[in-house]
Amino acid sequence: MTATVIDGKEFAAKVRAQVATHVTRLKTDHGITPGLAVVLVGEDPASQVYVRSKGKMTVEVGMKSVEHKLDVQTSESDLLALIDQLNKDPEIHGILVQLPLPKHLNEELVVNSVDPAKDVDGFHISNVGLLGTGQKSMVPCTPLGCLMMLRDHHGSISGMNAVVIGRSNIVGKPMAQLLLNDSATVTIAHSRTKDLADVVRRADIVVAAVGRPEMVLGDWIKPGATVIDVGINRLDAPEKGEGKTKLVGDAHYESCAAVAGAITPVPGGVGPMTIACLLANTVTACCRANGLVEPE
Ligand code: NDP
Repeated sequence: MTATVIDGKEFAAKVRAQVATHVTRLKTDHGITPGLAVVLVGEDPASQVYVRSKGKMTVEVGMKSVEHKLDVQTSESDLLALIDQLNKDPEIHGILVQLPLPKHLNEELVVNSVDPAKDVDGFHISNVGLLGTGQKSMVPCTPLGCLMMLRDHHGSISGMNAVVIGRSNIVGKPMAQLLLNDSATVTIAHSRTKDLADVVRRADIVVAAVGRPEMVLGDWIKPGATVIDVGINRLDAPEKGEGKTKLVGDAHYESCAAVAGAITPVPGGVGPMTIACLLANTVTACCRANGLVEPE
């Protein structure tokens, strides 16, 4: 069997086009421009790339993009003061604090200082609680993108066996919660899970969010299962030339694609969906803030 490739790049372009349509409607019908503020502390190269690309796409869909780049030495009180200012700014509907933060800043405190209604990352404890109890919330972008691809591919995932490998607060746990809310039977695996390959072999849906390059192998996959690969790992690629690198996922693509029914590639799978969902969340936040019907 050769798996169907779930094209996240194409799907994300569609989501962004829908977002752009909503933005146009908000502007023309209501005179409102959704605004997204991204806060970056320090000069982590990967974070800089993400922030640049978030800003570019925010502008492309017609929204207002504000970037605050703060010195690596920024104090917690200065960062909290900026977040407070953004919380109060009526032109800003979404706030994203790029993680990880430098070590001297308390990440939990900072994340929970964002107004939950503007918390487009869905990391605020209120949003975590709302998601956990199946209530309307802001949903973390990466798991939301994964869920959208699964719904699109399967229609319904109700009753399917899903195994999420990874239990982080930003990917694994919210992913499991979303799958559960869609009535999948969910197992969360992690570094202490025994016989991981056997656990994964029972899954109709495997979500790999481990942070270990190409760890999930084809012979762990039940024939016909769907593999959603969240991993982004940069490896040296001397075969491409000196000093060259390549991106790989947490699943070994060739062996998994030979057995799976469907698979997301890396790059071009979950990654592009994450930013598209961030933009969609900002429109949702803007609609809620203005008492307007939000996009589905
Ligand atoms: P974390 O490092 O926070 O979490 C990794 C999880 O994997 C932990 O729960 C850990 O278990 C588990 N794990 C580690 N080793 C093993 C193992 N050998 N067997 C089973 N489980 C294991 O990572 P994140 O959740 O932040 O990210 C996961 C991946 O997703 C990374 O590759 C990251 O780059 C990528 N990512 C991609 C995004 C995108 O937009 N596409 C966005 C965010 C992340 P334990 O809890 O026991 O330590």
